[in-house]
Amino acid sequence: MHFELNEEQRAIQTLACEFARNEIQPIAMKLDLASATDNFPWELVKKGSKLGFRTLSLPAKWGGIDADALTQLAVIEELAYVDASCSKIFAKNWTACRYILAGGTEEQKERFLPLIRDNDTYLLATPGTEPEAGADKDTEYYDAPAGQGLMTVARRKGDHYVVNGRKHFIAHGNTASLYVMRVRTDPLAPMSKGVSWLLIPRDTPGVSIGTIHDKLGWRAYPQSEIILEDVVVPVANLLGGKEGYLNREVGRGGRSIEVPAHMMSVARAALDAAAAYAGVRRQGGKMIIQHQSVAQDLAECYTLLEAGRSLLWRNAWIDTYKGRDAALTRVCRIYCAEAAIKVCLTALQVFGGYGVMREMPIQKYVRDAISMEHGEATTRVVKLALAKLMEARVKDGMAASG
Ligand SMILES: Cc1cc2nc3c(=O)[nH]c(=O)nc-3n(C[C@H](O)[C@H](O)[C@H](O)COP(=O)(O)OP(=O)(O)OC[C@H]3O[C@@H](n4cnc5c(N)ncnc54)[C@H](O)[C@@H]3O)c2cc1C
Repeated sequence: MHFELNEEQRAIQTLACEFARNEIQPIAMKLDLASATDNFPWELVKKGSKLGFRTLSLPAKWGGIDADALTQLAVIEELAYVDASCSKIFAKNWTACRYILAGGTEEQKERFLPLIRDNDTYLLATPGTEPEAGADKDTEYYDAPAGQGLMTVARRKGDHYVVNGRKHFIAHGNTASLYVMRVRTDPLAPMSKGVSWLLIPRDTPGVSIGTIHDKLGWRAYPQSEIILEDVVVPVANLLGGKEGYLNREVGRGGRSIEVPAHMMSVARAALDAAAAYAGVRRQGGKMIIQHQSVAQDLAECYTLLEAGRSLLWRNAWIDTYKGRDAALTRVCRIYCAEAAIKVCLTALQVFGGYGVMREMPIQKYVRDAISMEHGEATTRVVKLALAKLMEARVKDGMAASG
C-alpha cells in the first residue's frame, strides 16, 4: 500500500490548493454568515467547473479526469481545509455522477452525461430521506417492510411512472438540475426489494421545492425539501433499467471517503488555527502552548487527526485498487466523525472567548463538524451497520475483524 501521488494527482492537488486559497478563502466567512436562501456561490461553481472540479470523477469524454478515491481525497483535503461547504458542493457531484456512470445503462450515459459535461452549473442530487424515513431510508441496518421506510411511490403506467411523495434534507435539492431519486416501485415489498432509482430532471412538471433548510453549520452546502405531485417520468429513466436494482460499483470511487475526508479536513484546519493561536497568546507568564494542559490537549488532537487521516488514506487506497471495503468504510466514518468533533471543540476552547466570536472561523469549524455528523447516516446508525457486518462474519465462522 503506497500513498505516493503521481504527477497528474499532484497537479490537481496543487490546482485545488490554489483554487481554495484564491477563490474560496475570500468568500468562505461571508457565505457562512449569509442567509441560507441566499448564499449559494454560483460564480464559484462556474469557476470551479471551468477548472474541472464539478466533473472530477467523470472520464475525459465527459469532462473529468476519472478521479479515483485517492485523487478525490487529495482534492478534498485542499478544498475543505479552507471551506467544507464549498468543497462539498463539488464533491457531492463526484459521487452523484457515479450513479449514472457506474449504474446507468449505455443509453442513460449517452443522454445525461453530455448534459452534465456541457453546463457549468449542472449539479446532481441523490434524494432519499423523507420526513418519515431517515435512518430507515437505508437497508444496511434495518430492511423496512411494506408500509414503513420510503413512502415516495413510483407507480408504473405503460411506458412511464407517476411519482408522488416528499423528500427533505436533500443536498442540492434546490440547486441540482437532475435528481437520482430513491423511490418505492413496489410498495408491498420490503425496502431491499421494492426500491428503485429514477433519474428525474428538476424541471419536470409536478416537481417543486419546499423549505430550503437553515442549518447550524456547513451553511453554504444547501439542503431542501422536494415535493413530487403526479410527476411523470419515462421508464427509460429507471437507473440501470431494472427495478429494485443498483449496481454495487456505484458505491466505489469516492463514496467511502467523501464525508469523513471533509470531517478530518475541518479538524485539521481547527487544530492548525488553535496551535498557531496557542503559540502567540501569552497568559500566566508564558505562551499558552507551554501550559501543560493546553499542550496535552493539542498533542491528543494531533494524534486523533493523524489516526483519522491514516484510516482515510488506507480506505481510499483500498477503494481505488481493491474495491470498497464495507467494514473499513464504516470504521473510517465513525472514527473521523468522533475525532473531528472532539478536535474542533478542543480547538475552540484554546481560543478562550475568541472561540465563540462569529468573526473568527474557529466556531464555524465546530458548527461544520457537528453538521457533517448528520449529513449521511448518523454515527450511531453507522455503528449498528458495522456491528451487523461483524455479526454476519461470526455467523459464517469468521473472526469479527475480518
Ligand atoms: C447536511 C445534510 C445533508 C444531507 N444530505 C442528504 C442527501 O443528499 N440525500 C438524502 O437522502 N439525505 C440527506 N440528508 C439526510 C440524512 O441522511 C438524515 O438526516 C440521516 O440519515 C438521519 O435521518 P433523520 O434525520 O431522519 O434521523 P432519524 O433516522 O430519525 O434518527 C434520529 C435519531 O435516532 C437514532 N436512530 C435512528 N434509527 C435508529 C436505530 N435503528 N437504532 C438506534 N438509533 C437510531 C439516530 O442515530 C438519531 O440519533 C442530509 C442531512 C444533512 C444534515
